[in-house]
Amino acid sequence: MLYTSTRDNNVRVTASKAITDGISPDGGLYIPVEIPALSADELKALCSVDYKERAKKVLGLYLSDFTKEELDYCVEGAYADGKFSSKDVAPVVKLHDNVNILELFKGPTCAFKDMALQILPYLLTVSAKKNLKDKEIVILVATSGDTGKAALEGFKDVEGTKILVFYPNDGVSPMQKLQMTTQEGNNVGVCAIYGNFDDAQTGVKSIFTNKEILKRFEENNLVFSSANSINWGRLAPQIVYYVSAYCDMVNSGAVKFGEKINVVVPTGNFGNILAAYFAKEMGLPVNKLICASNANNVLTDFIENGVYDRNRDFYTTVSPSMDILISSNLERLLYILCGRNSDTINEWFGALKDCGKYTVSDDVKAKINELFAAGCCDDEMTKATISETYSEYNYLADTHTAVAINVCNSYEAKTGDKTPVVIASTASPFKFSKAVLSAVDKENKEYDDEFATVAALEDISSLKAPEQLAALKGKAVRFNKVTSKEEMAQVVFDMLGI
Ligand SMILES: *Cc1c(COP(=O)(O)O)cnc(C)c1O
Repeated sequence: MLYTSTRDNNVRVTASKAITDGISPDGGLYIPVEIPALSADELKALCSVDYKERAKKVLGLYLSDFTKEELDYCVEGAYADGKFSSKDVAPVVKLHDNVNILELFKGPTCAFKDMALQILPYLLTVSAKKNLKDKEIVILVATSGDTGKAALEGFKDVEGTKILVFYPNDGVSPMQKLQMTTQEGNNVGVCAIYGNFDDAQTGVKSIFTNKEILKRFEENNLVFSSANSINWGRLAPQIVYYVSAYCDMVNSGAVKFGEKINVVVPTGNFGNILAAYFAKEMGLPVNKLICASNANNVLTDFIENGVYDRNRDFYTTVSPSMDILISSNLERLLYILCGRNSDTINEWFGALKDCGKYTVSDDVKAKINELFAAGCCDDEMTKATISETYSEYNYLADTHTAVAINVCNSYEAKTGDKTPVVIASTASPFKFSKAVLSAVDKENKEYDDEFATVAALEDISSLKAPEQLAALKGKAVRFNKVTSKEEMAQVVFDMLGI
């Protein structure tokens, strides 16, 4: 299996090279030259094995220059017993009737990013051995909150790597901030920026492709890679849990084998839902992919009318990990849907860069509408959904998951589509305690302290906050630097001492 670039059809690299690089030197995203098939028999076989075996099978189809031993090592290490608080790693629970929740937040940082970022350091270090001679890898991350912590946890003290995370100073939840600023490890750095996630992401992307900076790295025996979902090593592990969820739904009787499901995904950078698209194209019985957004509803508009227009107000919402106006991974979808034509992608994404806007062809728009549905909801509706879901089904959803539940409900009401559905639940409600508490607390009490809020939410819900979050209380802050977009490169040099 070889990989090409969305910005240059002539590129051909191995999986390990794609993972080592993170992003193609032409600025494009690596993408497999074809989507491998998972036959019905193969899928059936996966129903009777555990998450690790499912991961080995699915990843093996994509990472063909990894040996069996290498892949086993990566999967066994990442999803080892005890790393995730559920023995199923990504369990599926029934919400009501034909609506199921895929809980992706059982990892060390309580958000779905762990699903990929627990394995990425393994994939990357194995890949680097094949492609780099003794160079040190510098992981640069732009985060809207959850990726940063999950990447720090995944890469901390991993030999041959250093990791530096940038997050928007006013764009993450108090718990997310605390998780990052107290990070342990000898190879880690964390810095806030004045600006939003898009500023952080654009800053990191331009560091990656700046020739002078790359030269300075070369001289110091360093190379960049990325732990953002622009790295194929993030995407591939996310395909696994959709396959796994389907198997679990067959096993629980939620669907008959071969019956189609709808998948609802709370979406930001379009990575998670793109993984669901890949699962569908591999042969997983999926009907509609439903893209759920918060008030930053650039994707809802795009899926409805084929015009991607980021020229709009940016909102800071109670679901901060979805506060994004430039969804990077959409580029991969459009590359495939436009007939794998990098000229078209260069044209559209050039327009996005220059004017903040592009319009896809009628043909591509028709394909999108065949595959996807979309919806959005604001903070009021998000909180109302948390409250309703809790009182009707005794299920405490986090703010991101609630956006998806809300969009799922309105999709069903609008279309009458009764296909069994799985909703991706992307974070623990205790990561966003303030907003979740305000939704379920009838007395509407507010607390200054994050941990008092957590305690109140524990009281009301009779649930226990995940230990990893409780343990942050009183932990020393190690990183409190805030910088401007323009100074990001300097922060990188300072951290590396070059
Ligand atoms: C990252 C994140 C999302 C958005 O996922 P994308 O892959 O960026 O679309 C949704 N919810 C939570 C909790 C997240 O951390």
